[in-house]
Amino acid sequence: MSELRELYQSVILDHNKRPRNFGEPPNADHSADGDNPLCGDKITVHVAVKDDVVTEVGFVGEGCAISTASASLMTEAVKGLGVDEVERLFGKFHALVTSSPQSEPAIGGLGKLQVFAGVREFPMRVKCATLGWHTLRAALEGTDRTVSTE
Ligand code: ZN
Repeated sequence: MSELRELYQSVILDHNKRPRNFGEPPNADHSADGDNPLCGDKITVHVAVKDDVVTEVGFVGEGCAISTASASLMTEAVKGLGVDEVERLFGKFHALVTSSPQSEPAIGGLGKLQVFAGVREFPMRVKCATLGWHTLRAALEGTDRTVSTE
């Protein structure tokens, strides 16, 4: 588990320092705001969807390293996926970060997102790690409201 923990720290640091897909993509046609008052993370996710496929995705906002890195990695992971595939990926991601730190992490199909197994040891941080995802799902649903983790 220590190897995954080191990877977790280096990936979080990297994506926090240089978030990928930061900004509003030119053809974005859906967006939603997310708020994690517990930590002070605020995020807006913008997506462009064509034929039920996420063709463009980006985010703006301010938050802790984990919320920023998670949103950054999320945008990389979901670009080009069908909306139903995004939902399945979120399900796996959510199951991973909320599973017991004593259990073997279920990382199948998660790619780089598997580093978030490290969040399991910090339950307070699960909301930071999932904020971008909840906000993305609201954007895809066209829900015109701020998503709050509270
Ligand atoms: Zn946070």
